Amino acid sequence: MSEHYVKVKIHVEQMKSFGEDAEKQGVDAEEEQVAVSSSPPASVSPDPPSITIAGRDVSNTFKHRGKSRIKMGKDDKNICGKHSLDVSLHGGRNVNKLGHERTLHIKGTGKILQGKNNENNGVSMRPSKNIQEDGFKLARKRRPVTVDTSKAKTSLEALKLSIRQLKWKEFPLGRRAPCDIYWHGVSFHDNENIVSGQVNKFPGMIEMLRKINLSRAVRTMQELFPEEYDFYPRSWILPEECQQFSTQIRMVKENDASVNPTFIVKPDGGSQGDGIYLIRDPSDLKLMVGSQAKQAVVQEYIQRPLLIDKLKFDIRLYVLLKSLEPLEIYIAKEGLTRFCTEPYQEPSQKNLSHVFMHLTNYSLNVHSGNFVHSSSQSTGSKRSLSSVLYRLAAKGVDIKKVWSDIIALVIKTTIAVVPELRVYYQAEIPPGKPGPTCFQILGFDILLMKNLKPVLLEVNSNPSMRIEHEQEMAPGVFEYVPSPVDEEVKVGVIRDTLRLMDPGHKRTSISNLRAGGLDHGEEIPMEAEPQDRSPDEGALPSLCLKQVYPKYTKQFNYLRLVERIAALFIRFLGVKGNMRLGPTAFRTFIRTCKLSNSNFSMASVDILYIDITRRWSGTMADSREAGMGLQAFVEAFFYLAGRRFKSQPLREQVASLLELCEAQLETPPPGGEERRSVSCSRAVPRSIRTQTLPHPQLSSPGPLRRAASQDYRLHQRLKPRSLRANLEN
Ligand code: ADP
Repeated sequence: MSEHYVKVKIHVEQMKSFGEDAEKQGVDAEEEQVAVSSSPPASVSPDPPSITIAGRDVSNTFKHRGKSRIKMGKDDKNICGKHSLDVSLHGGRNVNKLGHERTLHIKGTGKILQGKNNENNGVSMRPSKNIQEDGFKLARKRRPVTVDTSKAKTSLEALKLSIRQLKWKEFPLGRRAPCDIYWHGVSFHDNENIVSGQVNKFPGMIEMLRKINLSRAVRTMQELFPEEYDFYPRSWILPEECQQFSTQIRMVKENDASVNPTFIVKPDGGSQGDGIYLIRDPSDLKLMVGSQAKQAVVQEYIQRPLLIDKLKFDIRLYVLLKSLEPLEIYIAKEGLTRFCTEPYQEPSQKNLSHVFMHLTNYSLNVHSGNFVHSSSQSTGSKRSLSSVLYRLAAKGVDIKKVWSDIIALVIKTTIAVVPELRVYYQAEIPPGKPGPTCFQILGFDILLMKNLKPVLLEVNSNPSMRIEHEQEMAPGVFEYVPSPVDEEVKVGVIRDTLRLMDPGHKRTSISNLRAGGLDHGEEIPMEAEPQDRSPDEGALPSLCLKQVYPKYTKQFNYLRLVERIAALFIRFLGVKGNMRLGPTAFRTFIRTCKLSNSNFSMASVDILYIDITRRWSGTMADSREAGMGLQAFVEAFFYLAGRRFKSQPLREQVASLLELCEAQLETPPPGGEERRSVSCSRAVPRSIRTQTLPHPQLSSPGPLRRAASQDYRLHQRLKPRSLRANLEN
């Protein structure tokens, strides 16, 4: 990358090192293989594609923090300053169709903020008399927002910094009077009996994002929208789908001897790469732990990932689920990339066990002798996402398209898990019962394939928010030292999450938000929009969290079919706090929605209920409640839709049945009127589905309901076992 190719405009002196780091890195031969032209031409928005990343000058901070990491004194005043770095790329490929310069803006926060910050920006904390008279209702002296940090665990350090930047009040030991925000390190239940305020975890999120449940949720969406959900590798659930897995692989190999796929096996509750292994043959599956069958997901291994410096890497993206209803999703504009520490080779029998080559987990690679802790964000084994995008952009990669695909992946994945979350939520905090509202930061792990297509690896309900790492100072002597790249990214994410959840912050009206959005198929611009700030936030950097939903409602709302099924399910649950439907409630649903007739008697309804519920309870590891869970209800609903609207594709069958049920119940559709207009019309016939992952011959096992036939019992006899199981395990 020569100087005339890349023009670096540095607005603040302190950030020079960042730019130099990025510039110093040459593009190696391996990287040149990136299929720059393979991504479809992006529709060019009138604005120059750019990323704006809010952060801060960590080098400064750590100079101070290094002195005293526990007791944070005046040194911390440096923390929430602001600086900005604009990097403009020139060159043939870097000029968009409209002739705009392609610009990568990276905004940091190096400027020092002092106590009198409001004067600095010409924004006064104290409203003038005039302003008050104008009806500008700023609190006289706003009570600081209170945050209970007593259960924050490993996110405590980043949380403390964030609270200090916001001038909020921390309660490290909890307090008797309610707090505005409760920050939990693990789950919704870390503090019991919270009846007000906000908690940074949703009930049921841990369960929903376990590997098996996430795979099931995505699979349900793949049945309805196979094209839209092709970003998740084909997966089989063990032990129940072991047989299908073996049979399918055998058939694929018999059909084409040159096909030799690799699979990655991940224990269901695992994290940090624990228990993961690669196989090339189903006979290599380790199915038992002692006398118990192992719950795991076996997944198609992405053999050709994008490499940088010859190394495999993945992206950790932070996503804020701000609200379930209405659905509000924000994506952090800055993330992390985690690098392997051994040069990548496509899997072979010889290298299958080389974890430093195949697994990008920080927790594994940090133990490799090759791991590089770098003080720069653009080098080392953990780098900022912006520095990686910068390098790709410098090579002519259409990063606008990559980013747009990543946003779509995040929204679609969230849409897949929201239905079940709504069931958990209403069970935990039924309408009318006092309780907190919830929000949650999620960690999306994304791999870029060589052709730049993003693939979802997993979603973490508890992404690490640690901003320090362990270092061996002397043989056998370990100490926690600050990690600049972690702090840069994670403090921004926590601080801006808090800002968005500020109870004093006026909520953007839902109707306003709904009005926004692009048409389906339009590309999502990378440009950050001006975010509204509360008057006392003037001194803080602009939000590093970008709203993507409901902003892009028009593009994605049509995917929310299962959520509408969940709304029906919840409506018929009856007893408060229930998560399962009893046989009477199921009958009531059928009757109220007028789904039985002479061809489908109430006796058949009962058989349907018993069969589906029995099969699902058979796959439940620790069923606490009897009855029909949401997944089983979805299966029943798909079956009923197939019976009623035979000739249509599944998604249209389901959309038609939903409209019929909602009309009977006079349910206002979630997502407003727009939803109706997009629910069916955008359906893509299943026949034109395209496969983007390798080995199109392999397909995940499809549930029985696809073949919904006249008689459910007969149908069950033909295919003795459902592939679907219960969420609670
Ligand atoms: P864990 O929760 O244990 O970290 P992950 O699903 O994140 O499990 O997988 C661990 C690592 O394995 C990932 O960071 C990635 O490097 C690699 N990996 C996971 N799934 C795949 C896949 N389907 N193809 C290629 N690599 C994968």
